[in-house]
Amino acid sequence: MAGTADFDLYRPSEEHDMLRDVVRALAEAKIAPYAAAVDEEARFPQEALDALVANDLQAVHVPEEYGGAGADALATVIVIEEVARVCVSSSLIPAVNKLGSLPVILAGSEDLKKKYLGPLAKGDAMFSYCLSEPDAGSDAAGMKTKAVRDGDHWILNGVKRWITNAGVSEYYTVMAVTDPSKRSKGISAFVVEKSDEGVSFGAPEKKLGIKGSPTREVYFDNVRIPADRMIGEEGTGFATAMKTLDHTRITIAAQALGVAQGALDYAKGYVQERKQFGKPIADFQGIQFMLADMSMKISAARALTYQAAAASERVAAGGEEKDLTYLGAAAKCFASDTAMEVTTDAVQLLGGYGYTRDYPVERMMRDAKITQIYEGTNQVQRIVMARNLP
Ligand SMILES: Cc1cc2nc3c(=O)[nH]c(=O)nc-3n(C[C@H](O)[C@H](O)[C@H](O)COP(=O)(O)OP(=O)(O)OC[C@H]3O[C@@H](n4cnc5c(N)ncnc54)[C@H](O)[C@@H]3O)c2cc1C
Repeated sequence: MAGTADFDLYRPSEEHDMLRDVVRALAEAKIAPYAAAVDEEARFPQEALDALVANDLQAVHVPEEYGGAGADALATVIVIEEVARVCVSSSLIPAVNKLGSLPVILAGSEDLKKKYLGPLAKGDAMFSYCLSEPDAGSDAAGMKTKAVRDGDHWILNGVKRWITNAGVSEYYTVMAVTDPSKRSKGISAFVVEKSDEGVSFGAPEKKLGIKGSPTREVYFDNVRIPADRMIGEEGTGFATAMKTLDHTRITIAAQALGVAQGALDYAKGYVQERKQFGKPIADFQGIQFMLADMSMKISAARALTYQAAAASERVAAGGEEKDLTYLGAAAKCFASDTAMEVTTDAVQLLGGYGYTRDYPVERMMRDAKITQIYEGTNQVQRIVMARNLP
């Protein structure tokens, strides 16, 4: 008979539950009050960054030896989930700090780790991740950004597109072609700094949702960087980029879970207040069944996301986990599809009011959509899952 050790689900510890309580209270007090204005004005959520930094929550994944909190993968998920529950734009701060810096953590030299992780952990700098290009989205290996060796330096030229927190971040992990004859095996990863000569940014994209998270092009015009800024060996950049996504797709699942939970919590309160036919609409079984389905889907998404976080943590701790790629893709795909369904249902439960910006569920529905698209669309997640079936 299988013992409990075979049971793969990751049960949050008491510390995880305490962390959730702390982040929820902080998010409700310091981030939620600005969420509507951040969306309406399409501005960076500075209040959220300040509150996260004041509480050391902007990059909890950074290991302790580099000055970070050393939070495990589930703790990182919980921080992102609770911030996204009130403001998805703000949750991009901890999520993209992990995405941008994980290549350095996974494959960088000791010197790179010391130089770049400390400022991130302190809140002095943010980190972005530059993989996508105008003509290389789902087929990221088709990128054209080039790095050419010049003595002790590399010279980068090209354009990255859709870069989250571009212009706000100090540091950028940039994937670039170093040997065009080898396709994905001819791609290398580098750390580029915002202040490097030749780095510039496009205008912020005008988006459907996550309007508080700046998304811009990044231009590299003869950017000359020291050779020791390469992350790992030459030609390993694409593999590092993909390994990174195995871990960070789980943080997108966390965003999706958070926004779905936020929409359900809001709708649950609303249906008790709103009266039609002489009673609260919560008394109608048709409404109760919708709430039950929404909650059921969130519970399933949460279980899968935490299972994937457990696998991510086992790998981060140096263990083996053959299903991480599958689980990361499955969690991201399932949780984001759930977020889209649940937030759409929340709008439905508020009727005409739900369709206006006077209520937060309209913003949540728009914000949820991105979780089905970035870090690989959900079609791409299905391709990844099919190639890595357990
Ligand atoms: C707001 C935002 C923030 C982002 N942040 C970042 C970031 O910080 N860093 C970064 O590097 N990138 C980022 N991205 C890029 C994002 O990851 C890409 O948009 C995404 O991977 C899809 O690429 P694409 O937009 O070029 O779509 P395309 O690849 O052109 O896809 C178009 C459609 O075709 C489908 N499709 C493509 N290939 C297949 C296939 N083989 N089978 C079935 N369907 C397929 C796709 O699923 C999609 O529905 C961000 C994007 C957005 C919108």
